Amino acid sequence: MRKMIVGGNWKMNKNIQETQELLNELKGQTQTSDARVMIFPSFVSLTTAQAGLEGVNIEVGAQNMSAYDSGAKTGDVSADMIKSVGVGVVLLGHSERREFFGENEEIIAGKVVKAIENGLEVVYCCGEKLEEREADNHFAVIEEQVKTSLFGLSKEDLQKVVIAYEPVWAIGTGKTASAEQAQEVHAFIRGLIANAYDQATADSISIIYGGSVKPANANEIFSMADVDGGLIGGASLNAADFFSIVNAF
Ligand code: PEP
Repeated sequence: MRKMIVGGNWKMNKNIQETQELLNELKGQTQTSDARVMIFPSFVSLTTAQAGLEGVNIEVGAQNMSAYDSGAKTGDVSADMIKSVGVGVVLLGHSERREFFGENEEIIAGKVVKAIENGLEVVYCCGEKLEEREADNHFAVIEEQVKTSLFGLSKEDLQKVVIAYEPVWAIGTGKTASAEQAQEVHAFIRGLIANAYDQATADSISIIYGGSVKPANANEIFSMADVDGGLIGGASLNAADFFSIVNAF
């Protein structure tokens, strides 16, 4: 059975003091679902989060990672550095990295391979822009993304990937894909995996939805057969809202 997952992408929010405060608030929440819970603070806050959540059922992940091992890459953070603070998971291919930092599918594919080579689990984000959906081109866009970034992996390595379907038009906009729209794309992605690998592999990969998930809509989205949880941006910065989503299964 694949695992339900809820991840909180803090984006470029929370300095160390604010991280500490949010961690304390998160530790005051009660989890009633058996979802895997992850938070993705900034690099600066990783050590604080990792130490602050020791013994708590919340994993800490990084928001990005270099495609390179080490050396003259000013400003970059390697897989080894991420692992050295005890973090085991990394978010790759977020649409904000694609849009504002020029990350294309080839770059992201290189990062996915590097992360897995280094023993990190990957939460890989894909999803279409508004104009691509309006042109009814979203399935082709998503197929190209997952084929380029993931389908070069062996079956064993693909198991180390969680796929986050995040339609760009729904991220931070307050617009959410309907539960049916999310289900349609998740089932499509699972079908692609079944074709490229096999049905058992497709059934074992968690595919989570991201895009303006809130306490009010989480349950409906998470109730869809192929939606295995969510990647949460804005609402993950409020501990009570985040846990209301964590418990929405
Ligand atoms: C995200 O950043 O991955 C995201 C889904 O953001 P939001 O929930 O704010 O739309």
